[in-house]
Amino acid sequence: MTPTDKQETQQALAQTLERTWTLFDEVQQYLGSSPQQDIPDFTVRAQQLIPDEQQAAAQVMERASLAQIETMVRTCDRCALAQTRRHAVPGEGVINARLMVIGEGPGADENATGRPFVGRAGVYLDSWLKAIGLSRETNTYIANVVKCRPPGNRDPLEEEAAACMPYLIRQVALVKPDAILCVGKVAARFLLGRSDALKNLRTTVYRYQQIPVVVTYHPAAVLRNLQLRAPVWEDLKRVAQLINMPIPGSRG
Ligand code: URA
Ligand code: SF4
Repeated sequence: MTPTDKQETQQALAQTLERTWTLFDEVQQYLGSSPQQDIPDFTVRAQQLIPDEQQAAAQVMERASLAQIETMVRTCDRCALAQTRRHAVPGEGVINARLMVIGEGPGADENATGRPFVGRAGVYLDSWLKAIGLSRETNTYIANVVKCRPPGNRDPLEEEAAACMPYLIRQVALVKPDAILCVGKVAARFLLGRSDALKNLRTTVYRYQQIPVVVTYHPAAVLRNLQLRAPVWEDLKRVAQLINMPIPGSRG
């Protein structure tokens, strides 16, 4: 429905309600009951009954299941990334997850397959998860800030992330993870609203909707700079501790 169509429908409904009111008034007069009243303004009521496009979309999102979110994402054209993607990448894993991993956006391999973190960085991420007893098959959910590949793997633009965040917010509410791991600064920026340097972000446990959030380096960054392996391992141990997973190599 276009905005003009919507306005016309709202006006038509307002008129119908007005006519109905008049009719009731006439019936009441006929029956000799209560005195006449002014006809209320039905415009507001009509707007409530036919919400505008944005409100309607927000209402659909609030009620969507995980499967419905995935379907909405695959056909989404809320931002310009829809024009250049091959496959949108909603995310994958289990609900009631021990951990939810949030990356920044699909790369070439993800764009080609429609699945998150399946390239080299993804295989590496799977090994991180495995080290603390987690996997996307059994107890983890993996998603991204934007669901469509930014051309040339650039960072998502502000407006692209803003358009896409409602999907991620609903995913977190449905997945109900015990903890969240943001990999990379883009995830931290859009989930937590923090733009500090990663080395400063990673030592604090943040909260998103009461859920503890740890921020660490992106696996692709670690593959480029192996010195980051040690801090990432510290961060993974912090995650394991938060969700009571046994930490390998510790005596606890
Ligand atoms: N990098 C990301 O941030 N997300 C993916 O899904 C793949 C690579
Ligand atoms: Fe829609 Fe997100 Fe893809 Fe943009 S990036 S088209 S908002 S799914």
